[in-house]
Amino acid sequence: MSRFWNSLVSKLEPYVPGEQPRVQNLIKLNTNEHPYGPSPKVLAAIAGQTNDNLRLYPDPTAQELREVIARRFGLTAAHVFVGNGSDEVLGHAFHALLKHEAPILFPDITYSFYPVYCGLYEIAYKAIALDEEFKIRVQDYLPDGQAKAGGIIFPNPNAPTGIAQPLTQIERVIAGNPDIVVVVDEAYVDFGAQTAAGLIARYPNLLVVHTMSKAYSLAGLRVGFALGHPDLIQGLDRVKNSFNSYPLDRLALAGAQAAVEDQIYFEQARDAVVRSREALTRDLQSLGFVVLPSAANFIFVRHPAHTGESLASALRARHILVRHFKLPRISNHLRITIGTDEQCNQLVAACREILK
Ligand SMILES: *Cc1c(COP(=O)(O)O)cnc(C)c1O
Repeated sequence: MSRFWNSLVSKLEPYVPGEQPRVQNLIKLNTNEHPYGPSPKVLAAIAGQTNDNLRLYPDPTAQELREVIARRFGLTAAHVFVGNGSDEVLGHAFHALLKHEAPILFPDITYSFYPVYCGLYEIAYKAIALDEEFKIRVQDYLPDGQAKAGGIIFPNPNAPTGIAQPLTQIERVIAGNPDIVVVVDEAYVDFGAQTAAGLIARYPNLLVVHTMSKAYSLAGLRVGFALGHPDLIQGLDRVKNSFNSYPLDRLALAGAQAAVEDQIYFEQARDAVVRSREALTRDLQSLGFVVLPSAANFIFVRHPAHTGESLASALRARHILVRHFKLPRISNHLRITIGTDEQCNQLVAACREILK
């Protein structure tokens, strides 16, 4: 607290990112990073940009990158917005598109950045309870004739549960709310869910948000993007150009473009993570863990005989970091990022020892 802070800053409850430890010898399964590095073509493209041109500003419109992304989804560059990580893209979406007179809706158990943006942009929200199986109940997001919503946002697959919704259910939410923007945060979609990007041509109220941090293994580069009707993209552009005209630097533009262009590497690395996820799920189930069905690069688990906190600290003592949320309904769960097979095996061995 400082008397120099304005009243908004005094009230903020900022997001707390997962720990990025300074020591080297930890098995880091706490922030959903990819266990394998990015494509060698990405590294070469970045190296190719480390030259005198760094004295020049990058392209403020990121035109080439937006065209490459657009092609991949069968859209045009006018349907694509890029930002400094999808957190920034999401922040602009809250600022530009979700701020309305009525509260916006998102699940009670979801990405914990959403309520933080609401605090920053002074947006009212209503957290809608997931059902007992931690699934989104679609009918809760359809207008009931009384309470109006100002916008809707949810991840698919949801985080931190990893549970995916079929596209038909997501389309019901979008079609049922034609007068407000529905944001589908597809940070993990490539690991096993269906993207809603194909619905953009039919629904001008749909914004699909992707990150290159997870499936593209570029968390350190900070690139995210949104896909939607050009009117929505222009709204995001207005905010961006009133805030920071150059969110992506030259290295990020080059690396991100090379990553999207190397779909073969992308799919191989992604498939390896999915195989490890299935193996880790079986191994932990055989130790008595309850594992939610995951379509992401993490699993959400609990053990009936142990608290989440005690398991997380016992793993930490064995140099394994996982994510534990001290939140209602999920305080006995752990979110475990899928690592390499060796890291997963070390995790299973540690769990076996702890449960003994
Ligand atoms: C990781 C994550 C993001 C943010 O990704 P960045 O592009 O690294 O900012 C957004 N939404 C969800 C649900 C995530 O898990």
